[in-house]
Amino acid sequence: MTGRGWRLPFRPFGVPVELDPTFALILPLFAWLIGSQVAGFAELFAQLGVDLDPAPLSTGAAPWLLGASAAIGLFASVLVHELGHAIVARVYGVRTQRITLWFLGGVAQLDDVPRKRGAEAIVAIVGPITSGALSLLLWTLLRSDLFGGGVAFVMAYLAVTNAGLALFNLLPALPLDGGRVLRSLLALPLGDARATRVAGAVSRVVAIALGVYGFLTLQVFLLAIAFFVDAAGRAEVAASQARRAFEGRRVREAMTPDPVAVDLGWSLEQLRRLRAFRSHTAYPVLDVDGAPIGWIRASDLDAGDGEAPLADLLRPVETVGADEDLETAVRRLAAADAGRLLVVERDGRVVGVLAKADVVRWLQQRAG
Ligand SMILES: [Zn+2]
Repeated sequence: MTGRGWRLPFRPFGVPVELDPTFALILPLFAWLIGSQVAGFAELFAQLGVDLDPAPLSTGAAPWLLGASAAIGLFASVLVHELGHAIVARVYGVRTQRITLWFLGGVAQLDDVPRKRGAEAIVAIVGPITSGALSLLLWTLLRSDLFGGGVAFVMAYLAVTNAGLALFNLLPALPLDGGRVLRSLLALPLGDARATRVAGAVSRVVAIALGVYGFLTLQVFLLAIAFFVDAAGRAEVAASQARRAFEGRRVREAMTPDPVAVDLGWSLEQLRRLRAFRSHTAYPVLDVDGAPIGWIRASDLDAGDGEAPLADLLRPVETVGADEDLETAVRRLAAADAGRLLVVERDGRVVGVLAKADVVRWLQQRAG
């Protein structure tokens, strides 16, 4: 789920869509699972009021064609569900980095949690509402008797699975939509911190119940989902606790102040000597006016000729304002070269370094 999949050649509503590599396995598997049970499905649909003659659906290549269409339709349905989240999140000013489809469904990776009170509940509930509406639309079309044969089979299959998608996602367990609705609503009276704790506890109970049920009924897929819900739910609680620790904090509070900066005129040998008694992972390089122009990594110092100019080893530097929001800085840190940001005052003066280790130390100090 980390951007290693295949990207669709188009962006629905401007959102990039990625297919996880597990998809290459799961799509044919689903097609086969559906195709091998066409008669059983036709029986189920008959009970729901959609009468289909199973004979022509189960002869020749028909079951496999139906299986493949239904499987593709299923994942398209998941995509529509996730797009529902993405579009409403945008109303609250939150961008979606990407939607990933993988073997347990879809994930819309939002840039941030919508911060407005109750907004997380609205963004979350739109998913099940979208799937429910899609199911209802398909049923209504089926009732019109305009469709028959294979088309009606695929429509009935998608009507049932979209209803299932809506119901499953309403389970009150993080990171499912129901869990997000629960947390967001609990936050209204309890505040964010306690709401996340309570929602986390409820999630564990739901995940365990799901797992026990999956085990007793020997449904391996359900068991896998229970494990996923449990692990992802706990990760979500941890992430939300970390986010809160950063809330309202400035870069200045977590940075290491007064970095040892060097001048571009120095030679490699001079910097090696400096490192011998002031050891750091990286040294910011300043121009004559004191403005940062790059980093030298300590690990780069051992290679090369001692008389070589420092400019050869210069790595690009990223700066962050001392009074900027710590959470935003931490997110930038993840992508920054050398794993650190140079902290500057408003006037451009270098006052500190923010490295991943600084953030970890700061969090530990606050926790202990
Ligand atoms: Zn959802």
